[in-house]
Amino acid sequence: MKLTVLGCWAPYPRVSGACSGYLLQENNRNLLLDAGNGVLSRLLQHIDIQELDAVLLSHLHPDHLMDIYALRHAIEAAIREGRMDKPIPLYLPNGPAEDFDRITGFTNAFVINVIDRLPEPREVHVAGCRVKFVPAKHNLPAYSMLLEGSKRFVYSGDTAYQEELIKLAAGADLFLCEASGLDSDMNYLQENHLTARQAGELARAAGAKRLVITHFYPEYVLSLLQRQAAEGFGRQVELAREGATLEV
Ligand SMILES: [Zn+2]
Ligand SMILES: [Zn+2]
Repeated sequence: MKLTVLGCWAPYPRVSGACSGYLLQENNRNLLLDAGNGVLSRLLQHIDIQELDAVLLSHLHPDHLMDIYALRHAIEAAIREGRMDKPIPLYLPNGPAEDFDRITGFTNAFVINVIDRLPEPREVHVAGCRVKFVPAKHNLPAYSMLLEGSKRFVYSGDTAYQEELIKLAAGADLFLCEASGLDSDMNYLQENHLTARQAGELARAAGAKRLVITHFYPEYVLSLLQRQAAEGFGRQVELAREGATLEV
């Protein structure tokens, strides 16, 4: 299982950067996790559009979804030209209504799967992976997700600290966790996001084997986030780096 970081910034990118997007590859299958602004052109550096098997959106904030509007056209063109034979599965939460309604209208590109409507415990098989969704603690419907194939990979999406994520990340081979700020940002972040230290503490409580932090605000010094996450984790922590491919 391989993870490629397509974009790691939030809620706007650094120069030449992209917002949230990750390519997960297993057995020649390709899953796109989130599609923030700038992600599609990065995706196409790694695979052709017809090789994309499914898209999973953690939630419908712009920094996680904007390129779904461009991706839709790329898929429709590939189908029109005979490079793809059918729409691909798209998993997404059921709101906010304005974005949800627009995206779920793109049925020529996507087979829509609403995560909120999956029966508990919200487990599905997508492109060769067992996927489990757990509601995140965020200011709109959002999910953290486990993707399990030959390895166990967990992506936090955007979330505040919560026990359910500790359970989901238990024993993860690689835990990709948002780290949206420093200790000094705790009051500002605590209802919707994790500080870097909390990401580390959460990963430690879960017994994750490896922690990669992401979802960086461009104005931060990343080495400070990395240090506070490592103090929370009690071990070395890696930074998500755009273009990097990690063996899970
Ligand atoms: Zn975000
Ligand atoms: Zn968000």
